[in-house]
Amino acid sequence: MRPLVIGLCAALVGCVSRGMAQEAPPPPPTSTSTQTTTTSSSSTPTAPPVTSTPSAPPRFRHARPSRSTSIGGPNNGSLEGGVALPERATGLVSNPRRPNATAFYGTAELINAIADAAAVVDRALPGGTLTVNDIGFQRGGPIDHHGSHQAGRDADVLFYLLDAQGQPHPSVGVPIDPEGNGTDYRDLMDPSDDVPLRIDLPRTWRFVQALLENEHALVQRIFVVEHLRTMLLDEARRQRAPRAVVQRFSEVTCQPAYAHDDHLHVRLFCSDEDLGAGCADASPMYPWRLAQIEAAGLAPVAETRARRRSRVVTEAEARASAPPMHESVRAFLDRRESWIVQPHPGRRYCR
Ligand SMILES: [Zn+2]
Repeated sequence: MRPLVIGLCAALVGCVSRGMAQEAPPPPPTSTSTQTTTTSSSSTPTAPPVTSTPSAPPRFRHARPSRSTSIGGPNNGSLEGGVALPERATGLVSNPRRPNATAFYGTAELINAIADAAAVVDRALPGGTLTVNDIGFQRGGPIDHHGSHQAGRDADVLFYLLDAQGQPHPSVGVPIDPEGNGTDYRDLMDPSDDVPLRIDLPRTWRFVQALLENEHALVQRIFVVEHLRTMLLDEARRQRAPRAVVQRFSEVTCQPAYAHDDHLHVRLFCSDEDLGAGCADASPMYPWRLAQIEAAGLAPVAETRARRRSRVVTEAEARASAPPMHESVRAFLDRRESWIVQPHPGRRYCR
């Protein structure tokens, strides 16, 4: 059987791809697979074991907020002075197998905020690693598989995951069901290589809390599937998170047209500095943000230009072009139909 290193991704719309390169099963020596774009040279049969002790990641150095400017809006914008997410930093890795290989640039505020939040998780709950997928291109603009991510203020991050023993497991972009479980199916035709996984709610919530508490990077939006939104809210209460943070989370989260059951999509507001330099916010504009903008002597700028389309695949196209799958993969995808439909016309602030 031919290994399908892109695994379940091939059957999912908007799939954020697998996690780290070393998790791909090595191709057999006789493989003629052409899916080399998702396989790194480190996954050859002769590659050294990836579990060797990693050296400490380099210390993350904040980028100056003035270095970058987000121009226009998430759906039709660009980026000046884009800041690169480091390949590794405390508690985080930048996924080398992200869908768009060079989409690791964002505004200074976004990159600083992601790195800071991952470091908070690493200090509070050591052992897990945040995997960051697509952010945007160095100069922003349209990006395959995404409607937005054009102005340096959007980032996709994978959920922290646990293995069957409850230990941290490197993140992969697998859909998580309403019980909090997912499976890394790897070779979709081979049931013997399936890896059961579970969302790591304590670390995932702690990351979200740290982002929301960052006053230098105001979170406008977190897209996530409805059942994980509920589970994260329950976890927040379990951790006795500050009431204001929980309230903010419940306000900024929703399940949009694409379910977001395999990652979180975080979007920041324009910074005050960028607002006066061409940055524009997509909806919604919350009363609290409006009050801040007015208090700063600024005026809100709404994104008005139509979405600049990028290449995206429909659900039907993904299913139709999916490789052969064993029975439980098909059953999972059938079950997934029940939660990928947007559960309501939208929360108050979700289109
Ligand atoms: Zn996204």
